[in-house]
Amino acid sequence: MNALQLEKIGSLQLKETHTSETKPGEILLKVTHCAVCRTDAKMWERGQRDLVLPRVLGHEICGISEESGKRFAVWPGSACGHCEDCRRGTENLCREMQIIGFHKDGGFAEYVAVPESSLIPIPDDLPGEIASLAEPLACAINGLRQIRVREEERILIYGAGSVGLLTGLAVSAQNASPFIREIRPDRLTRSEVFRDRIGMTCAEDCKEHRFDAAINAAPSSDTFLQGLSALRPGGRFCLFSGLIDDQPIPVPAINEIHYRQLRIAGAYGCTAAQMKAALNILADHKNDVKLLIEDHITLEQVPHILPKILAGEAFKFVVDV
Ligand SMILES: [Zn+2]
Ligand SMILES: [Zn+2]
Repeated sequence: MNALQLEKIGSLQLKETHTSETKPGEILLKVTHCAVCRTDAKMWERGQRDLVLPRVLGHEICGISEESGKRFAVWPGSACGHCEDCRRGTENLCREMQIIGFHKDGGFAEYVAVPESSLIPIPDDLPGEIASLAEPLACAINGLRQIRVREEERILIYGAGSVGLLTGLAVSAQNASPFIREIRPDRLTRSEVFRDRIGMTCAEDCKEHRFDAAINAAPSSDTFLQGLSALRPGGRFCLFSGLIDDQPIPVPAINEIHYRQLRIAGAYGCTAAQMKAALNILADHKNDVKLLIEDHITLEQVPHILPKILAGEAFKFVVDV
């Protein structure tokens, strides 16, 4: 089969490989769509903590079982199933976690081996291209879960890329109000129609500057420091994106956490249940979410669009396999 393999950092090659072998408890899924994530681009550019090379990338996968004809979105994790985190329903924190497209071969290929426990059925009327966004949306849902977002709360999101916008969708699906802060005018312009559809307001345009919670879908340290000061006393900040610069966190900002009883929570990945919830939201908003699909591409085109993704100049590219 054809597969796009990251041989080493910076070298992504389309190859003819053996069709993935399935282990007990796994099925072979024919990939129909696999969305390209910013993390794929980052892995290509500089690697990632959980990446094991060489690797077929791609973790935002939809496929079809050739045996049953059923369509599935893939929860990209496979957890041990019996440790404390797995039993608690936070299997994304399992220490034996193996992530498809990171530790195991992913969806930039014609076929992918997937544990049966990771298969989430796609609602009948939901196109596969939209369903391939279930994983990033589920990660956003996980982020909101970590800061316990409640109805009618005002949630400030940093970054109007596709993840920030999907986070806005997850916020409005919870009947809370999403606000966006984005420093690049081009990204505000590009996202305007989507933001209008889901009721996401520019934070600059609102009078009230105190938010119940904030979440970063942008990797600069400034988002963290600004986010803390935008919170009401007792507000929560979700560190959804890792920070990429080496800027130290000043002590006064730490003390602000103390004096104003702020709470900080991390979020990484998502659970299978959150993927299911994401598919339901996507089914309710398929016409809105369509706006976030930049283009359909082939496996061959993936290496060429990665710089565009790193530059934050595009929404989601979906590979039609
Ligand atoms: Zn992703
Ligand atoms: Zn476990």
